[in-house]
Amino acid sequence: MKLSFWPFDLKLKHTFTISRSSRDVSPVVLVELEHEGIVGYGEAAPTRRYGETIETVMAFLGSLDLSGYSSPFDLENILNAVDSRAPGNTSAKAAVDIALHDWIGKKLNIPLYRYWGLDKSKTPLTSFTIGIDRPEIIEQKVREAEAFPILKVKLGGPNDEEIIKTIRGVTRKTIRVDANEGWKTREVAVEKIKWLEQEGVEFVEQPMPAEDLEGTAWVRERVHLPLVADENSLRLHDVPKLQGVFDGVNIKLMKCTGLREGMRMIAAAKACGLRIMAGCMIETSVAISAAAQLSPLIDWADLDGAILTTNDPFDGANIEEGKLILPERQGIGVERRR
Ligand code: MG
Repeated sequence: MKLSFWPFDLKLKHTFTISRSSRDVSPVVLVELEHEGIVGYGEAAPTRRYGETIETVMAFLGSLDLSGYSSPFDLENILNAVDSRAPGNTSAKAAVDIALHDWIGKKLNIPLYRYWGLDKSKTPLTSFTIGIDRPEIIEQKVREAEAFPILKVKLGGPNDEEIIKTIRGVTRKTIRVDANEGWKTREVAVEKIKWLEQEGVEFVEQPMPAEDLEGTAWVRERVHLPLVADENSLRLHDVPKLQGVFDGVNIKLMKCTGLREGMRMIAAAKACGLRIMAGCMIETSVAISAAAQLSPLIDWADLDGAILTTNDPFDGANIEEGKLILPERQGIGVERRR
């Protein structure tokens, strides 16, 4: 088994701003796992919030030795070894996980959703993300998102009211709000959510800092909108702690080490009575299409990372009027663009 990997700069259509950061280019690491003439693709989209950079991903992948394994079908042993090599490094681990799954699907000549027995007609609608911006840019983005029935709006800054007012001046479509831990006290969070209840909002993601689970539970008792964990739901072991604090969980391959653990988080969330969202970072169609393969199992999708970019080197899962469309291709379903 041969693992190769290289950094790639994904360029964004618009400067992307959330409550803690802002950027025009989003670097990722692309991975190829080659065995018996078949290539599985993988991707790491590291974020500093979780202690990763391009350099840490390159170093982690460079430290792996897969030569002792006979085939990617040894996935469970391989991924256990990769995970125990060092703590963290979750996007680097996800890159290996995605490439192994892609290889297996290609070897078996089936898309992963079919390997898992899922119904591709059950993929959910995905939202289109509107980052924090000036009103004229927000208006422009809302117009660009015309084909999407649901908007995901980044709040958690000083001009939350202005952003929502600007969007509501253009459209009445459903809004999902992501505060990215931006509301620092429970009183502020309750006040903001109560106001959002009047504005056609479906749910609020991560209203409070991840350290303040107790505060989040306090907020949840005082509002009606469902609360969805993101910065609080990294890996499988986080899921049970969310019961009674959140109503749903945002699972991202880059936080949870990939499809193997993502699948287990879905099962755990269902067992805990939590609703399930699949989210993404700014990613190419490799990681997006991998997550889309799981999406018939989830309630809400936010898998727009690739369409916010201008130089995605892959073609994969598509989005038609907001609905995720899984291609009839093997594995994660991607092909290099020519
Ligand atoms: Mg989020």
